[in-house]
Amino acid sequence: MTEPATLEIEHVSHHYGARVALDDVSLTLEPGRFNALLGPNGAGKSTLFALLTRLYRIQQGEIRFQGASIEQVPKRLLASLGVVFQQSTLDLDLTVLQNLEYHGALHGLSTREIRHRADRELSWLGLADRKKEKVRALNGGHRRRVEIARALLHKPRLLLLDEASAGLDIASRQAINMAVRSLCDERQLTVLWATHLLEELQPADPTVILHQGRVKASGTGASLCEANHCEGIAALFEHFTMQGPD
Ligand code: ADP
Repeated sequence: MTEPATLEIEHVSHHYGARVALDDVSLTLEPGRFNALLGPNGAGKSTLFALLTRLYRIQQGEIRFQGASIEQVPKRLLASLGVVFQQSTLDLDLTVLQNLEYHGALHGLSTREIRHRADRELSWLGLADRKKEKVRALNGGHRRRVEIARALLHKPRLLLLDEASAGLDIASRQAINMAVRSLCDERQLTVLWATHLLEELQPADPTVILHQGRVKASGTGASLCEANHCEGIAALFEHFTMQGPD
């Protein structure tokens, strides 16, 4: 079996003009695990995602995928990366399957392969019978599942999700969270799950707390709580995010 993918972010800073969005951020994902990136709005999560997906050029620092700088191996990175962005990027007037076909074609998959893989991903996400419907007819939770199916179509090894369950009801949020967790166990995917919602984390998750563009803490939620004498993740989050700038 292939080893799970590795990702290291080292001393990354990013500025929008005079505004500092990321300030000397370093973190290493645990391969094959559900890694949580926890931060309030404005923490810098989306900026980090934009760098990881090469939407923005790295201004300072280095990001390494499988040990190589992503600037040296952009094609290898993009072929191995599945992404669910905060804002939906589905075409509402295409069917579920057409959205997946479009994505598969961009990754150079044959129509036969795309249909085969689409059936597989839509089935385990409980959407097999919706594939011929326009995305517009689906509720928010189902649209998110389609985005996950699409992100998995080219068999990525690293899955990035930016506030993937934002705006959904609790049941849909939990279902999507559990579905993504199962990918780590069943497919050895390395997952980076960015959120501001504490209830999406489990105590054993490798967790990074990002606030005002800086890494405030990293470790499992449980170990961070113990080290900082906090009762739970909520207290921990408050401990690190109620502080002003250093
Ligand atoms: P998060 O995803 O955690 O909410 P962002 O990465 O969106 O955080 O934002 C980090 C900081 O950078 C915020 O202060 C935000 O206002 C600022 N920012 C984000 N995008 C831009 C942009 N395109 N231009 C200027 N400032 C930006």
